[in-house]
Amino acid sequence: MKRIGVLTTGGDAPGMNAAIRAVVRTAISHGIEVTGVEKGYSGLYDKSFLKLNSRSVSGIINKAGTFLKTKRFPEFKKIEVRRQCHQNLLDAGVEGLVVIGGDGSARGAYQFSSDFDFPVVLIPASIDNDLYGTDFTVGFDTAVNTAVSAVDNIRDTATSHDRTFVIEVMGREKGNLAVEVAVACGAEIVIIPEVKLENREIVSLLKEQDKKGKTSSIIILAEGAGRANELAAFLQTEFPNRQIRYSVLGYIQRGGSPTYLTRVLAAQFGTAAVELLQKRKYPFMTGIKGNEIVYIPLKDVVSRSKDIPAKHLEIVKNMAI
Ligand code: ADP
Repeated sequence: MKRIGVLTTGGDAPGMNAAIRAVVRTAISHGIEVTGVEKGYSGLYDKSFLKLNSRSVSGIINKAGTFLKTKRFPEFKKIEVRRQCHQNLLDAGVEGLVVIGGDGSARGAYQFSSDFDFPVVLIPASIDNDLYGTDFTVGFDTAVNTAVSAVDNIRDTATSHDRTFVIEVMGREKGNLAVEVAVACGAEIVIIPEVKLENREIVSLLKEQDKKGKTSSIIILAEGAGRANELAAFLQTEFPNRQIRYSVLGYIQRGGSPTYLTRVLAAQFGTAAVELLQKRKYPFMTGIKGNEIVYIPLKDVVSRSKDIPAKHLEIVKNMAI
């Protein structure tokens, strides 16, 4: 393979830059040229291509976000749009593609590779850690750490004032982030989209905690399981003598300098992705299982769903006594 392309698409995640850097430098060290594609799949359509060299990726390993930019591009679901993208890649002499992104990006990557038998490898990058086949995605560890530090700060004030806090974290469809944050912060309750708790169950859990002498508590709510303001308002009517507050962590969870784990994973995945393309193994996703770098067929990634983090949910429950 003489030239490959690299793009970032979907929601941004810390470590995308470190992954691009790893792809570019691995490829160049193997004598492969690299074309950067700006703004995700839309850059394939608009021919937003730039030649990348080792210096193009200097000084970005510690920066969140993606210097290639990312964009949502629903038009990529149309075959005629994908056909044009394919032609543009052929015209530019690009023989393989590394896609860095999340769940939706995986669907696009699988579709594109299947349509044209084009070599595509996905590097999973997502703060949601919601892709089947890998223990971790690039960016997840950083987002969890950012949220943990914010929740710790909120706990300081919650404890001082005997307050109950509902804290909303990201996670529209999956609660992996919420559950990890809940375990790490010692939250009393965690509510995720996959296992929604009824309001009356939340009330009875808080009543139990009252009986055990707990004067403040933290409830972690994944955004896909409800809104923090609504839950806080409801709980305030149920517990008029408690001070119920809420906080929505929001976009801070996407930013911040990537943690060591995120950067190392980006380096491992970037290296593995280029090696897969070199061997013409596609369409695959790079992943990590235990401590091993593994390759998962994209067909499985798009057709199967990651398990609920049941053991960690259990830990939250057992520790809330
Ligand atoms: P993420 O990868 O973070 O989950 P999105 O769900 O927005 O983000 O997906 C990123 C992009 O992938 C979309 O904007 C679209 O261009 C492409 N995409 C998503 N689903 C499909 C699909 N079924 N077929 C083709 N392209 C898709």
